[in-house]
Amino acid sequence: MADDKKLTPRAEDFSAWYNELVLKAELADYAPVRGCMVIRPAGYGIWERMQRQLDDMFKSTGHVNAYFPLFIPESFLKKEAQHVEGFAPEVAVVTHGGGKKLEEPLIVRPTSETIIYAMFAKWIQSYRDLPLLMNQWANVVRWEMRTRLFLRTLEFLWQEGHTAHATHDEAEEEARKMLGVYRDFMETYMAMPVVTGVKSDAEKFAGALRTFSCEAMMQDNRALQAGTSHNLGQNFAKAFDVTFQSETGTIEHVWNTSWGVSTRLVGGLVMTHGDDIGLRTPPLLAPIEIVIVPIWKSEEDRGRVFEAAAKLKAELVEWERRDPHRLRVHLDDREGMSPGAKYYEWELRGVPLRIELGPRDLDKNQAVLARRDDRAKKPVSLDTIGKEAAELLVEIQDAMLSVARERREKNSHRGRITYDEFRSIMEGPGGFVYAGWCGSGACEAKVKEDTKATIRVLPDEEFCSSEPPATCLACGAASQSEALWARAY
Ligand SMILES: [Zn+2]
Repeated sequence: MADDKKLTPRAEDFSAWYNELVLKAELADYAPVRGCMVIRPAGYGIWERMQRQLDDMFKSTGHVNAYFPLFIPESFLKKEAQHVEGFAPEVAVVTHGGGKKLEEPLIVRPTSETIIYAMFAKWIQSYRDLPLLMNQWANVVRWEMRTRLFLRTLEFLWQEGHTAHATHDEAEEEARKMLGVYRDFMETYMAMPVVTGVKSDAEKFAGALRTFSCEAMMQDNRALQAGTSHNLGQNFAKAFDVTFQSETGTIEHVWNTSWGVSTRLVGGLVMTHGDDIGLRTPPLLAPIEIVIVPIWKSEEDRGRVFEAAAKLKAELVEWERRDPHRLRVHLDDREGMSPGAKYYEWELRGVPLRIELGPRDLDKNQAVLARRDDRAKKPVSLDTIGKEAAELLVEIQDAMLSVARERREKNSHRGRITYDEFRSIMEGPGGFVYAGWCGSGACEAKVKEDTKATIRVLPDEEFCSSEPPATCLACGAASQSEALWARAY
C-alpha cells in the first residue's frame, strides 16, 4: 500500500480490504493463539447492540435465558452418532486438570445440545413441562484450520436456543418461527437482506432432521450463512432419554429444536455495508449514531463553537427521551486534531451521521449534516436539527437495506442456465444462481467439486422463480426442487 491510511479497494482484493477494515476500524485484533481474536470496544459495541435486540426478540417470543457449563463429558458427544461424526474433527479436548490426568476427558463445547438435553431429561416429566423454551448466550470452541476475523475463529460468541416440544409439528413451528425472528432482525436491524429456506441433507446440522437457514449475499457475491434453526426431531431425545408422560398417560420422547447466531454477524455487517473508505454501520446497531465535530481556528471562535456544540449534544440527548428510537450522540472535543482527521476516523469507524459545526454555521444558526452511507451533506437550522437528524437516521437505515437488496438482485441469476454458463458465473463474478436440482447428493457433490458452489438453501416459496426450473443443473434429469447455488464463506 502506497498510502498507509487507505484501505485496499474492494474491487482489487476483497479479502485484503475486509481484514484491513476490521483491524483499522479497531473492531478486532489477532490474539496470541492462532485462530483466536480479541473483539475490541468498537466491534464489541456492535455485538452488544445485536445481542440486546435479539435477546428482546427471544424474550418476547416466550424464551428464557439459562447458562450451561463450558465442559462436556466426552461420552456425551458420542451418544448421538451423526452429531459426533460431524463435530469430532473440530473438538478441543481437556485431558488434564489440577496436574492430574482426568478419568474421562472433557470436551470444550462446540455447541451444547448434548449437555442441555442431558439436563432436560432431568427436568421434563410431564406434558405440563412442555414446551420448554430456553436460550443461552455463551462462547463455543471449534478447532478450525482456516480462520478469518469474525467469520471463522476458534472461539466465538453466540446464542443457542434449545427447546423441547410434545409433537413434531410444534417443533417444526418453533424452528420456523425462530428463522423468522432471525430474518426480521437481519433485515430490520442489520439492513442485510436474506434468503430463507431449508438446507439439503449434505448441508444440514449434524444430528438434525431439518436445518433452516438465512443466507445473505456479501459484496464479493459470495453467500454468508448468517443464522440457522434446526428441527432436531427425536434424535437427541432418544440419545439422552428425554421423555414425558402424555395427557393419555403414555411415555413419549420429546421433539427438540436448536437455533443460533454468532459474532459472525459482525463480519456479515462489514461485508454487506463497508466501502473503500471504511465501515458503514446501520444506525440501529451503531454504538454512536451521531458524532458532533466542532470546527474553529481562532481562540475566540473556539469558545463559542464549543459552547454551541455542547448545547447541541445536550439537546439531542434530551431529544432521545421523547422518542422510542434513542439517539446515541458523541461530541468529539479532542484538541490538537484537525476536523479532517476527525472526519476520516469517524468515517472509517462507520458512524452513520456527522454534524459539522463551525463559526460561519453558527452565524447562520445552522450546522451541516453529513451522511456516512452516501456522503451527502446538507445545512440544517439549529432550531430543527434534532428532528431532522432523527428522521435522517431512519432514512439511512432504510436506504442501506434498499441498496443491499438491489445489489443482491442485480447479482442473482434465474431462468434457463446451462452448466457451462453456471461454471463461468462461479469462476467469474459469482452470485446467487436459482436452478433446478434432481435431489441427488451425487449431483450436489459434483457441482461442489467442479465449482466450489454449494446448495445454500432450497428457498422458501417467496424467493422461488415464477417459472420453476424444469431440469437439474448438473445431470439434466427432471428437477425436484429449485435450489439456490453459490460459493459461500
Ligand atoms: Zn441431478
